[in-house]
Amino acid sequence: MAATLIKNGRIVTAVDDYTADILVAEGKIRTIGEDIQVGPDVDVHDAQGLLVLPGGVDVHTHLDWEFGPSRTVDTFETGTKAAAYGGTTTVIDFCNQPRGQSPLAGLEEWHVRRATACVDVGAHMIMLDVNDQSLADMKTLIHREGVSTFKLFMAYPGVLMLDDGALFKAMRLAGANGGMTCVHAENGAVIQVLIEEALAQGHTAPKYHSVTRPSILEGEATHRAIRLAELAEAPLYIVHLSAGEALAAVTEARDRGIRVHAETCPHYLFLTDEEYLRPGFDAAKFVMTPPLRDHNHQAHLWRGLKTDDVQVVSTDHCPFCFNAEPYGMKFSKQQGRDDFSKIPNGAPGLETRLPLFFDGAVNQHGMSINRFVEIVSTTPAKLFGLFPRKGTIAVGSDGDIVLFDPKEQWTIRAAEQHSRVDYALFEGRPVTGRVKKVFLRGQCIVADQIWHGRAGMGQYLSRGEAGKS
Ligand SMILES: [Zn+2]
Repeated sequence: MAATLIKNGRIVTAVDDYTADILVAEGKIRTIGEDIQVGPDVDVHDAQGLLVLPGGVDVHTHLDWEFGPSRTVDTFETGTKAAAYGGTTTVIDFCNQPRGQSPLAGLEEWHVRRATACVDVGAHMIMLDVNDQSLADMKTLIHREGVSTFKLFMAYPGVLMLDDGALFKAMRLAGANGGMTCVHAENGAVIQVLIEEALAQGHTAPKYHSVTRPSILEGEATHRAIRLAELAEAPLYIVHLSAGEALAAVTEARDRGIRVHAETCPHYLFLTDEEYLRPGFDAAKFVMTPPLRDHNHQAHLWRGLKTDDVQVVSTDHCPFCFNAEPYGMKFSKQQGRDDFSKIPNGAPGLETRLPLFFDGAVNQHGMSINRFVEIVSTTPAKLFGLFPRKGTIAVGSDGDIVLFDPKEQWTIRAAEQHSRVDYALFEGRPVTGRVKKVFLRGQCIVADQIWHGRAGMGQYLSRGEAGKS
């Protein structure tokens, strides 16, 4: 593979900010210095006037994923291509333990699907059955397969939910073996009562998805998960935190030195539950879990990002089309046209995470670019066992680099994006800051909106110890 030189850019990592050239060869950053001279066989890119950032790390995606009767519409090829266009070069995706089978069988099947990935991918394992055999398999996953994180659900009874005893056992096993559990914290049993009562009263519209999942139940489950992890002496990661009550539980625990980490997602930072007032079925586009909250919760999330009680922004990219055509009902929100509880929960976001969060955090909330990089790349790489291979620009790290124009203005349009999904949560939103070029292990895969990558070039990331930051 030819070497690549990126010249004259402003390199910003979680801690540095300086101008230099970067030479990448055989996929790794070999030299960082002033005025590096190279021969004619080197691919040279001028980054004058641009930010040079480590590739984004998105630790929460559901690609080609079965969820009850539904399936997400992006393949690994289309989902990771969208990721690349948005400056994300590492994705950690959720893989299911098949019901009644070993999680190792789920991983094997996931490897077949991920073979078309265009960026580097790792896997978290969703544990559905926690018993002696699957606990032993968790050890094998950590030590042999490079899968050091496990998703546990406190929601979706009968589909994904685990009881407290199972949560505790999985947390303890993971913690004792260098692994970490990632918990979806909502009280599923009480939510089920509220859903049944709403439907019995004839409330079938999408907005009842939000009404039946109140923030207090996210706060309760987050508190419970933290206490179980504390007893298990294991690190814990709260996925897609959306509620002030949940953040209060995380903050209280972190102040006591408990190893709990939290992520939030762009939709909780930039959208509110007013979207559910849209007429007709349009509000179904915003049916994700947890639901969008009101402005008060948003203020808490921004506070948490400032004080490091929220450490990661990931997408929870879980795309279902609004329309049933052309991919079919299985991939569409239309399954829930007459019953909000049948709307597949999830929304797209992989392609817009970096620019959207840059604009909101740096331009509008005064966040430093260093802190921005930390949240979208460095901390996720550290927590999920990929640092310093991923998450920074340093000699020896992978040459995953994004050239970013902090001044360019553009508008988010689903029609111009690369996911197979047929809508965008942020349709029509103007954004300042745009991805110009993206390098995966030194190879330029996106340049000025032109695709130079290929399906299958993404490598599997066998990950190390999780929960360190
Ligand atoms: Zn998710």
